[in-house]
Amino acid sequence: MATIDSVEYFNANGARGCLLSQPMKPIRMLVCLLAALVTVESFAATEVLKADVRKRVAGDYDYLIDLYRHLHANPELSYMEKETARRMGDELQKAGFKVSRNIGGHGVVALLRNGKGPTIMFRCDLDALPVKEATGLSFASKRRMKDGAGNEVFTMHACGHDIHMTSLVGTARLMAAIKDQWKGTLMLIAQPAEERGGGARAMLADGLFEKFPVPDKAIALHVHSSMAAGTIGYTPGFALANVDSVDIKIFGMGGHGAYPHATKDPIVLAAQTILALQTIVSREIAPIEPAVVTVGSIHGGTKHNVIPGEVDLQLTVRSYSDATREQLLNAIRRIAKGQAIAAGLPEDKMPIVQVKDEYTPATYNNPELTLRLRNVFDDWLGKGMAMERQPQMGGEDFGEYGRTDHKVPICIFWLGAVSRNSVMQSIKAGKSLPSLHSPLFAPDAEPTIKTGVATSVGALLELLNGFAHAQ
Ligand code: ZN
Ligand code: ZN
Repeated sequence: MATIDSVEYFNANGARGCLLSQPMKPIRMLVCLLAALVTVESFAATEVLKADVRKRVAGDYDYLIDLYRHLHANPELSYMEKETARRMGDELQKAGFKVSRNIGGHGVVALLRNGKGPTIMFRCDLDALPVKEATGLSFASKRRMKDGAGNEVFTMHACGHDIHMTSLVGTARLMAAIKDQWKGTLMLIAQPAEERGGGARAMLADGLFEKFPVPDKAIALHVHSSMAAGTIGYTPGFALANVDSVDIKIFGMGGHGAYPHATKDPIVLAAQTILALQTIVSREIAPIEPAVVTVGSIHGGTKHNVIPGEVDLQLTVRSYSDATREQLLNAIRRIAKGQAIAAGLPEDKMPIVQVKDEYTPATYNNPELTLRLRNVFDDWLGKGMAMERQPQMGGEDFGEYGRTDHKVPICIFWLGAVSRNSVMQSIKAGKSLPSLHSPLFAPDAEPTIKTGVATSVGALLELLNGFAHAQ
């Protein structure tokens, strides 16, 4: 869109270039004045549009907060987001979108075709976590449901996906209401199973980019649990990590605890393996390459005086690049086996190393797209409200949409979600705020949702209208 480029054009070429440098011929001066006038006019038009969007966001807030509270009070686990998806589909249909349901499970795709122009995708996620809410909010979740293993668990939107959904619905309603201000196709998707790392893959496998248009760009937002509501965070390049879960079953030869010489003790072998695994990051990966190998779970044995037959380890493995990921996984396999050989175990007692299917690839924010959105956020929120954030080793499966053969440029940005007061108090007291996934995570709903909708609308208008000149 013209907003920022026009202002810069005016500053760079209008005022300085035309009016203050060497004397100009009348014709050149006229051209410059006309260009300046057009720029000022388009700048004024953009300011009017921004004011109109803000007014509409405020006007729709009562509707959106009701939706938010409903979604917050009724969280559903990954792969089980049936009612949430139904409500999202209904909301998007009501906003004037053509809605397709059950794409890759409970996924929803909503299209608004509005003339010739680019296709821009905006994604939110539907699922909640098995967490017992402890916020004390009047609309706190009391919901329980059976998880995949059949256990009844409390559920909570402890990762803010209810804010994401509400922001997406608010954006849909607003973009439909200002259809005369943009051209192209708006593609909104509500994705299941983000928390399990499988939803994006499932939607793509079900033909997201075949049954529906391939987007020219794709964006998403995620709440941030330590940034103040009203602010935005952005990270060009790698923003979130490759996440692998690895199970290792270490075998031994069990026996009496008093006669270890007659056994092969898998507990001692597990301990040695865990320590050896720590040398992958410290000794094998280049020091400037981010990587994590954490053994998060170890289970083995039943009693003081029994040497068991096996021990189970569960690891989380993080990286950014595909090459580092492969290096980490190969080193884990090699070390697990090597330690077993060193312990004198026979070939049929080698450990089983299983890399789980629930792999989440790193999220790589297209740098050019990210900086373009940064300009939009500066423009819509005011200077200083959009901040560059460090990459994180957490995971998000939004990265999948940028990894298909279509090479869609993607960007996920952070939406500040905590009240300014809480941020100030936490800084003063030197205490950290409840993190995402905490039973105490309670976003400051009003400024968060309003900022979520306004910045998403601003980003989409930029990408839809500014598409031609940015190619
Ligand atoms: Zn989460
Ligand atoms: Zn999340």
